[in-house]
Amino acid sequence: MRKDDGDRSGQISMSGPDLTDAEREAVAAVLRTPRLSVGPQVDTFEAVVADRVGAKHAIAVNSGTAGLHLCVRAVGITDGDWVITTPFSFIASSNVLLYERAIPVFVDVEPLTGNIDPVLVAEAAADLREGGAVARRWLPPRGAPDDGELKAILTVDVFGQPADYDQLAITATRHGLRTIEDSCEAIGSTYKDRQAGTLGDIGVFAFYPNKQITTGEGGIVVTNHDDWASMVRALRNQGRAPGDTWLEHSYLGYNYRMDEMCAALGRVQMSRLDELLGKRERVAGWYNERLKSLPEVELPSLAPSTTRISWFVYVIRLDPSIDRREVMERMKSRGVPSRPYFVPIHLQPHYIERFGYQPSHYPVTEDLGQRSLALPFSGVMSEDDVAYVCEALRHSLR
Ligand SMILES: *Cc1c(COP(=O)(O)O)cnc(C)c1O
Repeated sequence: MRKDDGDRSGQISMSGPDLTDAEREAVAAVLRTPRLSVGPQVDTFEAVVADRVGAKHAIAVNSGTAGLHLCVRAVGITDGDWVITTPFSFIASSNVLLYERAIPVFVDVEPLTGNIDPVLVAEAAADLREGGAVARRWLPPRGAPDDGELKAILTVDVFGQPADYDQLAITATRHGLRTIEDSCEAIGSTYKDRQAGTLGDIGVFAFYPNKQITTGEGGIVVTNHDDWASMVRALRNQGRAPGDTWLEHSYLGYNYRMDEMCAALGRVQMSRLDELLGKRERVAGWYNERLKSLPEVELPSLAPSTTRISWFVYVIRLDPSIDRREVMERMKSRGVPSRPYFVPIHLQPHYIERFGYQPSHYPVTEDLGQRSLALPFSGVMSEDDVAYVCEALRHSLR
């Protein structure tokens, strides 16, 4: 990531892609053909991802957010529907519900992993099904009609670790709910040896450059449901159903297609997936080793059901007595960036304005949001980089 000499200020970055000449050559090769979109690279990339995670269908799109939006459309979530989801996530997982005028019904998360709490999901689902005043207490303070229909659970595999799907499935089955898995941070991770992305009814991976593999911008939807897969294919391609010509559009669709350069890049990255995950795991191990003796720092922890974590970010939690803002500033002055991860979704300005949320509504999420700190992390960091970040953190805590 940088030369091994004294002054490192400005040299450590939050994240970075791991690219080789194989990726550069694959993209350049596409540029020597006339076929820049809707071509063989996308088909191959989709086949490789489907095969790797064991899904019947994979449909590549131009962002993780686009993929999530198409999942919402494909499973039939619409105006005023209620969807149980988590406020401890990147904002896209909830925004895609608002795109379809559905209501995100937040429930709090488990303190260990930051993943949605299946016990609360079960309680919320039962109460929402009952309706009336019992349902009301799970809904946003304002801006949500009382007469919604509970349709789905939208889970997020936070920081590369799957949520507790066996528990969630019990609730989903009991109430006839769809499960959408936002696995944008978790490609390659496993839950009880089952692949992330395939743990719900339909799942999404994302390929922005800070993710485990990248296509520049990009994402992919995976599912075993034939009907949803063909709907996602149609919607990403301007609503063209199978049999429609280029200027016939059966549905209200979008241009969410992935192009050939992105797919070529993704194909090579997928062929290196285990290597890339291995490098990230090694970097996480260096951090764990160096930080475990710092009393002010809690290390990331794994649930017993996580049989493999796909390291996405390295997020520590600071002791409540520590001023995070000050730590970040001190680290910055040593050339080390860091980020609060996540800012809870219900406390984002649009959500406060629209739904009337206030601090205290989701205490576990808020506690994690206040104490968590993402350190620079990528598979291309050297052990010296990690040592430098850890030293900067140690000095900044005191
Ligand atoms: C990265 C990410 C997304 C989607 O990201 P895009 O930038 O649209 O590809 C969605 N949800 C979560 C939890 C993410 O981390």
